[in-house]
Amino acid sequence: MFIEESAEAVEAILHHNRGKTDVNHVIEELADLQIMIHQMRDFYDDDQRFIEIYTQKLQRLEGMLE
Ligand SMILES: [Mg+2]
Repeated sequence: MFIEESAEAVEAILHHNRGKTDVNHVIEELADLQIMIHQMRDFYDDDQRFIEIYTQKLQRLEGMLE
């Protein structure tokens, strides 16, 4: 399901870039993908570790943008 929702989000973005669908479709698929990401986090059962790595990556990105 995660791979399927990822593919649907990519497809929606590609179709939007080609003018074949509207932004609402992209947002709908991104919402589906976000739900799947949460489910995958639950599946791998280490949310604290996820938050640590996610925070480190955000901080590194912010440092690059400054
Ligand atoms: Mg979907």
